[in-house]
Amino acid sequence: MAAPKGRFARYLDTVDVTALSTRDYTDADVTAALGRENRDLADLAVLLSPAGTARIEDIAQAARATTLRRFGRAVRLYAPLYVSNACLSSCTYCGFAKDLAISRRTLTVDEVEQEAGLLTGRGFRHLLLVAGEHRVEVSQDYLVEIIERLRPLVPSLSIETQTWSDDTYQRLVAAGLEGVVHYQETYDRTRYGETHTAGWKRDYDRRLNSTELAGEAGVRRLGVGALLGLAADWRADVLSVAAHAAFLVKNFWRTEVTVSLPRIKPSMSGYQPLVPVSDAQYVQALSALRLFEPEAGIVLSTREPAALRDGLVRIAVTTMSAGSSTEPGGYSAPGVATEQFSISDERSPAEVAAMLEKAGYEPVWKDAFPLVG
Ligand code: SF4
Repeated sequence: MAAPKGRFARYLDTVDVTALSTRDYTDADVTAALGRENRDLADLAVLLSPAGTARIEDIAQAARATTLRRFGRAVRLYAPLYVSNACLSSCTYCGFAKDLAISRRTLTVDEVEQEAGLLTGRGFRHLLLVAGEHRVEVSQDYLVEIIERLRPLVPSLSIETQTWSDDTYQRLVAAGLEGVVHYQETYDRTRYGETHTAGWKRDYDRRLNSTELAGEAGVRRLGVGALLGLAADWRADVLSVAAHAAFLVKNFWRTEVTVSLPRIKPSMSGYQPLVPVSDAQYVQALSALRLFEPEAGIVLSTREPAALRDGLVRIAVTTMSAGSSTEPGGYSAPGVATEQFSISDERSPAEVAAMLEKAGYEPVWKDAFPLVG
């Protein structure tokens, strides 16, 4: 049975993001949106529009000033730790989809600890445990065991796995879990149905509600995101994910909220973006997002190329991964299991940290983010 709509889903039903994203805007609209102190979704739509693209320099400069004021010159570094690529769902864009003939692997808890040891040796104190959707291979008991094992070694642990019930989130928090990341991928219900063809993830509302459940269970960091290129109207997805972040900031005020807008990368799925998002549009999207929701952290993965990442750190990004592998066990023994997607920034964590320092930023390896109480 499909999950009922949660609070945010009901709110989103009241907002016509398509009407906002497709309206014609003028240069004067952009000037007005830039001039406001507190911006609403209509302002965000203006900043994301083609008229906004023509003013990208102004939007990026305003975003940079806002980021510096709110977050200072600190960028948190984290690493994804893939524990399994087993999956019972089919998402048309993903290299782990259940019907793909790939090399599957689920790490033992000892192997996860070994991977974590390598990553802490490289400086990381914030790890994101990533898994496909497989309730048997990646059970809640398995995750609890991993979290309890890693907790003394890694002060900040987050998960990016399937969605869970509120009881399970409570159990994971009790074990030491700090953060939960759920990408809605696309907020367009029709497109969501077309691209999530089988499995647990196919239930749009269950996925959308899960972030609220995690927040109510006491998770301290909540991450949401959309996969740009999945739906034809990327601006509508940015509007929706921004509204989602603002909802979480407002309703879970003790929780740190982050947003990520990955662009589709090549994978075993062979999926090609429906509408590619250019680099300029990508900078525009992250800058506009920063101006709409100054409280939210913005996360950038190694999917993006090094030069673009270096530029975005100076504009809007507050958290980034470095030296990532997207295959289970890929830090200790690369090439055994299939990766989820290919990465673009192949620099080592030390090289990324050196880049940040050279740019005048402090790489933050552990949970000492300056404005999180
Ligand atoms: S995106 Fe997640 S649920 Fe979908 S196929 Fe990939 S691993 Fe499975």
